[in-house]
Amino acid sequence: MKSIVFGRWGEVLRDCRTEEQAGEEREESGLPSPKSFPDNVAAIMSGKGLLQFAREFNFIPMIREYVAQIQSHYCCGKCITGIKGSKMILMTLDRMMAGQGQTSDLEVLERMADILNDAAKCSVCQSAGELLKDCLTHFRQDFLAAIASGISPGAVRYLGNISAPCMNTCPCHINIPGYVEMLQELRYEESLAIIREEMPLPGVTGRICPAPCEKACSVANMGDVAIPIKTLKRVAADYEMIHHLNPPLARVTLSGPPVAVIGAGPAGISAAFYLNRLGHPVTIFEALPQSGGMVEVGIPPYRQPREVLDREMGIICDLGVTLKTGLKLGRELTIPELFDRGFKAVFLGVGSHKSIPLGIPGEDEGIKGVFLGGIDFLRDINLGSEVEIGDNVVIVGGGNTAIDCARTCRRLGAGQVSIVYRRTESEMPADPEEVDDAREEGIQLHFLTQPLGVLSEDGKMVGLKCMRMELGEPDWSGRRRPVPVEGSEFDLEADTLIPAIGQTSNLDFISPGDGIDITRRGTIKVDPTTMMTTLAGVFAAGDAVSGPLTVVHALAGGKRAAKMINKYLECGECILTDQDWMSDLIASIEKDLGVLVTARTPSREGGTVAHTKRDVQERITNFLEVDSGFTQRSSFLEAGRCLRCFHLVLAAVEDTGSRSTVGR
Ligand SMILES: Cc1cc2nc3c(=O)[nH]c(=O)nc-3n(C[C@H](O)[C@H](O)[C@H](O)COP(=O)(O)OP(=O)(O)OC[C@H]3O[C@@H](n4cnc5c(N)ncnc54)[C@H](O)[C@@H]3O)c2cc1C
Ligand code: SF4
Ligand code: SF4
Repeated sequence: MKSIVFGRWGEVLRDCRTEEQAGEEREESGLPSPKSFPDNVAAIMSGKGLLQFAREFNFIPMIREYVAQIQSHYCCGKCITGIKGSKMILMTLDRMMAGQGQTSDLEVLERMADILNDAAKCSVCQSAGELLKDCLTHFRQDFLAAIASGISPGAVRYLGNISAPCMNTCPCHINIPGYVEMLQELRYEESLAIIREEMPLPGVTGRICPAPCEKACSVANMGDVAIPIKTLKRVAADYEMIHHLNPPLARVTLSGPPVAVIGAGPAGISAAFYLNRLGHPVTIFEALPQSGGMVEVGIPPYRQPREVLDREMGIICDLGVTLKTGLKLGRELTIPELFDRGFKAVFLGVGSHKSIPLGIPGEDEGIKGVFLGGIDFLRDINLGSEVEIGDNVVIVGGGNTAIDCARTCRRLGAGQVSIVYRRTESEMPADPEEVDDAREEGIQLHFLTQPLGVLSEDGKMVGLKCMRMELGEPDWSGRRRPVPVEGSEFDLEADTLIPAIGQTSNLDFISPGDGIDITRRGTIKVDPTTMMTTLAGVFAAGDAVSGPLTVVHALAGGKRAAKMINKYLECGECILTDQDWMSDLIASIEKDLGVLVTARTPSREGGTVAHTKRDVQERITNFLEVDSGFTQRSSFLEAGRCLRCFHLVLAAVEDTGSRSTVGR
């Protein structure tokens, strides 16, 4: 645990610079000592305040660096207060550090701090004013000492990352305020370029990402409707697609060591894309005849049209990534063979493709109408196989897969489609919007209902024996456990059953002697920092590591693994880039000390512009995309509501030792 020597964090002040203060403050300040920070962090400055960990620390060179980084990288250049004010502060601090300052400079700095804090247009420069004020108030002696005899910059290294509540929450850490601002200026291609720096499937995620970023948006946290970050991303991606523009992505010379990627789902695609950008020849080996993973064979086309994924995959292949389909690790390929063929590292992005059975009688007895699992059902349909369903379908489960199966059955012509779920609607993991869409399409939802067995006659399904449940005490997940209501059994008429209660990874290609450990949850074990498995040179990410999650999580894992593979091949060690090290630190700050920044100014009123959706009666007859997203005008209005509430997080780091992790 790191002890705070001095801290101003939001409204909370903790001053332990003397032993006496330490005793009094530690208990009372309400600012807990962070648990998960690296040992070599001497101090932190951010929009929320400043924290000092090293007992001897001078904040003057740090505030100088903070203002300098804002000046050179992050000032939006739209208000004179920000441009000129930060420049003046910088010049004054430089003079002071060189021993040429005067006492009157303190007054100048005070005034400049107030002006920036009160009048700068956005939170980036406002935070510099507030932090300078902190330094002048609590470390005045250091300024006087600098005026008297100057100070050296010190032995620490400064690492800075731009941050915003939305950016921190997006697993790919996309510069959201940056791309939203570009949309407001109608600079669609630049907006897309910002997105692609951190994530290679903007058209896909712009449609189906659950958008955790929007839940963290400051506008939402001030009581208004969040900036529609996801749909705005789709506007940028669709602009390029509709106008048949070539993405501004140059081919790079692929002279690095070659890497094999197993699985062409989001994790594999992302690893391949970023390895390509780093100069590695990459071959993706995919078991199925098509690329895209669950985005292609799971998520139905009425939510994620295939041409969007095909185009984004095509862009990646045009950059020089080789895709080989119909080749399965464990069937046509083995890991040792891949190394023998000259690949210097292997990335495993094999996802979760094995349905979890319900464990009820009749499920696996070859009864007509009983399907193996939701993902198998959707895969067969999405790969164009003939799939026969009855007129009265029951689906078991409460996640997106269950909803997707139900809406797909409706489109395949089933007259009655029901979903059986053992908890209540509020515990349902499915996206609430998807649940609403399903209801609109006439799908019935039976909550607090547990299936007990398949009812059949002459080898054909005729119904599902069920029983009512009620909610009991919370289980390990914090959700209230469903418990059976005695004597409540009933029969639900149905001729088709699709179990969709979850999936696990098929890791048959790993044998006990391979050196790749599997967790008790049946996922591939990796070092979470480096994404390396227990076998040197083999990395993994995505659903096969985390368990079934989301596209954006898989993309983030693949990107991180790509950077680690690059370092591993370059210098024999998995060393985090400064940017990733800072991202991890920011995550630790949020975990230990709460949300890093809150916006101060309210957003322009206006609420959200409604999406248009295809008419229900029409949409249940086909697989065409339901949601039409925003028009350019709507996106302009929506983007204008963003508060651009990003800020700089700057860490003073005493050495770089702990950034290096696993060796070859
Ligand atoms: C029905 C459904 C709906 C979903 N809806 C959403 C949604 O709306 N939003 C969202 O964000 N997420 C959604 N998800 C989750 C999301 O699709 C996954 O989290 C994501 O695709 C995981 O990416 P991945 O690359 O880890 O694995 P996958 O996408 O599963 O890709 C793995 C790839 O590896 C291949 N593979 C497996 N084994 C081998 C092998 N031995 N050799 C070669 N290739 C192999 C597979 O064929 C597959 O192509 C949904 C999932 C499902 C099933
Ligand atoms: S207002 Fe804009 S910058 Fe702030 S959290 Fe929301 S989207 Fe991000
Ligand atoms: S990828 Fe998802 S989480 Fe990230 S910015 Fe886009 S919508 Fe938000």
